[in-house]
Amino acid sequence: MPLSEPQLQRVLDDIAQTAAASEDKGKVADYIPDLARIDPNRFAIAVALPGKPTLHAGDAHAPFSIQSVSKVFTLALALGKVGDRLWNRVGREPSGQAFDSIIQLEQEKGRPRNPFINAGAIVTTDTVLEGATPRETLGALLRFVRAAAGDDDIHMNESVAQSEIATGHRNFALAHYLLSHGNLRNAPELTLGTYFHQCAIEMTCAQLAKAGQFLTGVPGAPRMVSQNRVRRINALMMTCGHYDGSGEYAYRVGLPGKSGVGGGILTIVPGIASVAVWSPGLDHYGNSKLGTQAMQTLAEKTGWSVF
Ligand code: GLN
Repeated sequence: MPLSEPQLQRVLDDIAQTAAASEDKGKVADYIPDLARIDPNRFAIAVALPGKPTLHAGDAHAPFSIQSVSKVFTLALALGKVGDRLWNRVGREPSGQAFDSIIQLEQEKGRPRNPFINAGAIVTTDTVLEGATPRETLGALLRFVRAAAGDDDIHMNESVAQSEIATGHRNFALAHYLLSHGNLRNAPELTLGTYFHQCAIEMTCAQLAKAGQFLTGVPGAPRMVSQNRVRRINALMMTCGHYDGSGEYAYRVGLPGKSGVGGGILTIVPGIASVAVWSPGLDHYGNSKLGTQAMQTLAEKTGWSVF
């Protein structure tokens, strides 16, 4: 029996309370100076159900840096622009490596394993940027995200973007490595400037849950991409959305998800709902520690799973 909305609301309230009482909240990302300042005690969860008001608990109207969750939206744009030609430049296999690792990129001659590790996301952004300016590309991305969320009040945090431009040495290394293999079409500064701004999009949990609805395949959700593509993007989220922790997320939560080092996770319950959770402390994979725990509890209490 599906939970009623009041029952679901109680589950969300319990999850938020448990998170607040939790002693080990993980470690906030400190390699991006602007993110290091975020209070690890913040927590929010929001569930967007089709045609109903979004249910939420915690700081669900506080904006946070979505970071790598943005890679889902850029992937949708890139597939819309070049279709399956994207796969000539990036793979569709889990990497089993950290999100910012360069090891495989050398072994596999500059073709990143998937569009969600940093190297693959840089190629995906580079694809969207080709033939356009960074401003046009970021404008298109913001339009896409705002339309998906049905909310124009979504912006990029310039200070977070500049903070990564100043410190993102690994991403610069990845971009130059891609360039040396002929797998970057724009100047590294332009592609990375665009990538860092895309990661610096800020959204609230309520907005992010709504923005994910186009991936649920629920009738009435905004139709931003074809149903065929919805399935493919979900498959990639399931297998690659949490980097080397993707198997763990599939095991514990059983739903396609995409994490970001800002502590956000977008999770899709195909045919049912889109869920966003935010807790800034990360586990050793760089995925939100309490966010994962919260999603595990939600999946257990609701029975939501693709398995
Ligand atoms: N902007 C971050 C980076 O490139 C995104 C990483 C992440 O969220 N996992 O390092």
